[in-house]
Amino acid sequence: MRVNETFLSLQGEGHYTGTPAFFLRLSGCNLQCPFCDTSHQTFMEMSEEAIVVEASRHESRHIVITGGEPALQLTQSLIDQLHEAGFFIQVETNGTMPLPQGIDWVTCSPKGEVVIPVDELKVLYHGEGTDLSIAERLQAKEYRLQPLDTGDEMRNRIILRDTIAYVLQHPKWLLSLQTHKMLGIK
Ligand code: SF4
Repeated sequence: MRVNETFLSLQGEGHYTGTPAFFLRLSGCNLQCPFCDTSHQTFMEMSEEAIVVEASRHESRHIVITGGEPALQLTQSLIDQLHEAGFFIQVETNGTMPLPQGIDWVTCSPKGEVVIPVDELKVLYHGEGTDLSIAERLQAKEYRLQPLDTGDEMRNRIILRDTIAYVLQHPKWLLSLQTHKMLGIK
């Protein structure tokens, strides 16, 4: 598998915020979003067995498989091997491609038509004009609104204020913050 990076950290966003987790970032994506901050060029080849061994070196049995778009490479056999090793498997996806069976928690940050069932829908909020209509079409256990990180501190503050205001008026949505950025961890 083409792996962008692996690391141990705390899940910084969404339902499992604060959970110690092993992160497996798979390389490559089927989309090309203009604001994408993930490098799709660099990767190392790792076998499924090597991934399970690497993940199992740590105490945490929560794995976050992210990307790029993990659905491009994720296999049923890797999911089964991780379950056999005792892992709770969270996948972060754009939702446009099918995933293997049995994933414990699917976090979807929609970037196109979502074709899979999801547990947590996470939408980036950039203020008035953000299209949230997907929440009417897609069933999820949790709907989360995450202020867009523009890289501009002043603008980010305004977006955060607007996101909080929106959530207070629309309690179907929960606020999602990128706590790893606040903490200065990966
Ligand atoms: S879906 Fe995500 S990883 Fe893929 S190009 Fe868009 S932002 Fe980047």
